[in-house]
Amino acid sequence: MIKTAEQYVKDLRDGRVVYQDGKRITDVVAAWPKSVERAASEFFVATIPEHRPLFTMMEDGEECSFAFKMPSTPEDLQRRREILRVSGELGAGGSRLTGIDGLNGVAFGAAKMDRAMGTHYSENMAKYRAWCKKNDPSIVAAVSDPKGDRSLHAEDPRQANKDFYVRIVDRKKDGIVITGCKLHITAAAIATEIMVLPSRNHNETGKDYAVACAVPCNAKGVSFLCSQGSVGGGHPMIIFEEVFVPWERVFMAGEWQFSREIATSFARYHRLTAATYKVGQLNALAGLASLMAKYNGLTKATRIRDMLGWFAMYATVTEALGKAAALSGDVDPETKQARPNPVYTNCAKYWFASQWHEAMKYLQDITGGIAATIPSMADWDNPETRPFLDKYLRGAAEYPTEERIRAIHKVIEEGATFHGVLSIHAEGSLSTQKQVLFQQADWALFEAAAKYSLGYKVDHPEFKNRLGLGNTLWKMPESLLKGKK
Ligand SMILES: Cc1cc2nc3c(=O)[nH]c(=O)nc-3n(C[C@H](O)[C@H](O)[C@H](O)COP(=O)(O)OP(=O)(O)OC[C@H]3O[C@@H](n4cnc5c(N)ncnc54)[C@H](O)[C@@H]3O)c2cc1C
Repeated sequence: MIKTAEQYVKDLRDGRVVYQDGKRITDVVAAWPKSVERAASEFFVATIPEHRPLFTMMEDGEECSFAFKMPSTPEDLQRRREILRVSGELGAGGSRLTGIDGLNGVAFGAAKMDRAMGTHYSENMAKYRAWCKKNDPSIVAAVSDPKGDRSLHAEDPRQANKDFYVRIVDRKKDGIVITGCKLHITAAAIATEIMVLPSRNHNETGKDYAVACAVPCNAKGVSFLCSQGSVGGGHPMIIFEEVFVPWERVFMAGEWQFSREIATSFARYHRLTAATYKVGQLNALAGLASLMAKYNGLTKATRIRDMLGWFAMYATVTEALGKAAALSGDVDPETKQARPNPVYTNCAKYWFASQWHEAMKYLQDITGGIAATIPSMADWDNPETRPFLDKYLRGAAEYPTEERIRAIHKVIEEGATFHGVLSIHAEGSLSTQKQVLFQQADWALFEAAAKYSLGYKVDHPEFKNRLGLGNTLWKMPESLLKGKK
């Protein structure tokens, strides 16, 4: 089934417990209509004839959202990127940006776990996926735990409390009971389903923390504490207080050996999602830098062009890495599930995240000090002060002052702490990508390349048939060497 925008909105009025800025929010739709409209647009766009073939698919004679297809080819990964790209362009989406990656990451881990441990979680996952195809929920991935002391494991008695990571507090005949908190969960207060999964590896002694399950946003014991002052609830804390989860919605319950697998499988998908949605933002950022240069009359200055060239590279490399990560993804022979290339997807996330502050440096440099001192738009709206702004904050004559002023305010917004922190930490802090790169990079190839360059004979398949340094394919005849005619 394809859910309509109206159905999505109705589903949000389900008695969920939401707090923000010290108050209970009883109706999230009325509280944040703009954010709800944006999220609902993702459902609406799938009903527009022009976009329907991209967003939906037929399965067993029924139309359902392509988002819930288990990716089985690299082209499926690329199609998901296309869906994200079009959604971004149409100002749609948000409420399942993370959840689909959660679903696919957990599905992969559950399948591997079943094979290794004889468990049956894939059956639950298959039924849950079928339920998703039938009900078309919005879904978020709740991965990040509060962690407490980062140097300690979850169950370590030196932790200030036992609940820094979501854990199983009871096992019943018909399900499990979980307690804990997940932090920073994007758009969670306007979603309908929460895919809970571990954020890290856990030990045998901490096996109760190895838990993955799907929880409805209005489940008894779930409450949301939204980001301060945010529209749409931002990236809330989700509190789980003895939440009952029936077995059919449980995908891991104590198999600590697979906690890391599930966490990293999610991350592998999610870093591709990030590198995809980011491209639209980085294109706009490059455009903003270029416009600021024009407004300031600096388009011919070499040092400004140098920075603009960098912006073009910033956006383009992110797109290229994302595309490469999808199209050179692999299909796991056991599970038949396609996953992004782990090296490219981590390079993509690291690249855009690590360069964000560099981008801000250039953008603020091009814009000038006015980005720190500009009067507010309220002064532009005030007829007494607008003439001053109009006259003195004009840049190059061919552009109206208002355009320049609005662009400067955008520069200020982009440079806010939120965007910097989002770039670095969302989808995992920078060091996590380098850890994966260290683990996944082809060290045998790199070392063979080094040995080859040192002139050693190398047995690596890439090098063993090469001629070797100093030996060229074409040999000069004696006559040419000696200059004979
Ligand atoms: C805007 C935003 C949206 C987000 N959306 C989501 C979401 O939808 N779902 C979700 O699950 N999460 C989400 N996150 C959370 C994000 O994944 C985490 O913030 C990220 O993984 C970092 O975790 P942390 O915030 O606990 O920081 P920390 O892990 O505490 O990192 C702080 C620093 O400590 C270092 N560090 C941490 N542990 C160790 C250690 N043991 N040894 C050495 N160094 C260490 C890190 O490398 C880093 O430099 C979001 C975050 C942001 C900012």
